[in-house]
Amino acid sequence: MSGAGCQPVPPGNTEFGCNVETRAKQLLGLDIQQLTDMVEDFGQPPYRARQLFDAIYRRRVIQLEGVTPLPASFRKLLSDNGREVGAPDVERRFVSSDGTVRYLLSFRDGQSVETVWMPEGDQGEAGDGSEAGDEEQSREWRRATICVSSQVGCAVDCQFCMTALLGLQRNMQPGEIVGQIIAVLNDQRVEPGNDRINLVFMGQGEPFLNYENFMAAVRLLVEGVGLSPSRMTVSTAGIVPRIYDFGQERIRPKLAISLNASNDGLRDRLMPINRKWNLEKLMGAARDFPLRARERLTFEYVLLRDVNDAVQNAREVVELVRGIRCKVNLIALNPGPDIPFEMPEEQRVLAFQEILMGAGIAAFVRRPRGRDIYAACGQLRKAALKAP
Ligand code: SAH
Repeated sequence: MSGAGCQPVPPGNTEFGCNVETRAKQLLGLDIQQLTDMVEDFGQPPYRARQLFDAIYRRRVIQLEGVTPLPASFRKLLSDNGREVGAPDVERRFVSSDGTVRYLLSFRDGQSVETVWMPEGDQGEAGDGSEAGDEEQSREWRRATICVSSQVGCAVDCQFCMTALLGLQRNMQPGEIVGQIIAVLNDQRVEPGNDRINLVFMGQGEPFLNYENFMAAVRLLVEGVGLSPSRMTVSTAGIVPRIYDFGQERIRPKLAISLNASNDGLRDRLMPINRKWNLEKLMGAARDFPLRARERLTFEYVLLRDVNDAVQNAREVVELVRGIRCKVNLIALNPGPDIPFEMPEEQRVLAFQEILMGAGIAAFVRRPRGRDIYAACGQLRKAALKAP
């Protein structure tokens, strides 16, 4: 299929990347109001929209023929007019020795994106307030985390991240974000009613540079698919104005902020976005963030050997987060080709953690998942081959 309908979208632009013609053909991504407008355009009663909504999102039907409450004549009318559900295709699956699966999913315009399935979660984001180990008591529940992409590629250019090397290809539509979860839940035969599914928006892209589409997807996942926003976490590199907007959302996931450096000099170098919104602005937004009852902010800190993993850095982090109800997730660098950093020594990681804990800050060392298939944090670059 050619990519004729789609253009790359500059960062921060939340306009649609595809022309309306192509986009409107796909039902996945439409909310109840948009579906109502559509069925009315076809001269159908508005309750048909609810039937479509339930079939597409709650029952995750991927073919119009499967939308059984609809009369066959209306289904035919839809498909004769080029309408389709429009879930992404599973192009490839890479299975890690630890059970993690990296999916390469392809969209109608030929672009592909990556989504990661982590059975038993990653021990860092239970999403429901529980931490590593809590799941022991709930063995009858199947618990898994899906790591979702929000853009094809990324424009933020963090120096330790493989996705940055792709550059931004384009923003993703709400239906493409939701479609990732639908494709993976179907492939894994998951029933959200019975299985505990956590979502982390930590795959390719910067969700807060595709804010409107990302939030539209969240609402469809909550109201349509039936997932709980308290089991979702979105991670941002620090798009400060959107952190303020996000705090005002009625339905929203939890917030994680990729800190990754303990002072501006270091952060300017590692994450160029810091030159636009520095630590004072970022930590100001974190401090102002309206946390809900029992909610905590998460800070992520990727440890790079001899760059940001010293005792002094840990002490600076303590000062930065002082007074914020939060936890810190420490992530040892997941290495990759063309990434000019090395993994930290384990001792340094533990020492870093100890300093935070000694200051009364909850700090967890995240277990890497799927490193052998380039599925771990920062490794999503559409590597077609298994890592050695
Ligand atoms: N753009 C968002 C979400 C995607 S990155 C953000 O920046 O938060 C998700 C997490 O992976 C971030 O915390 C990021 O710092 C981390 N990460 C990126 N590259 C990594 C790497 N090579 N090793 C370990 N973690 C990495």
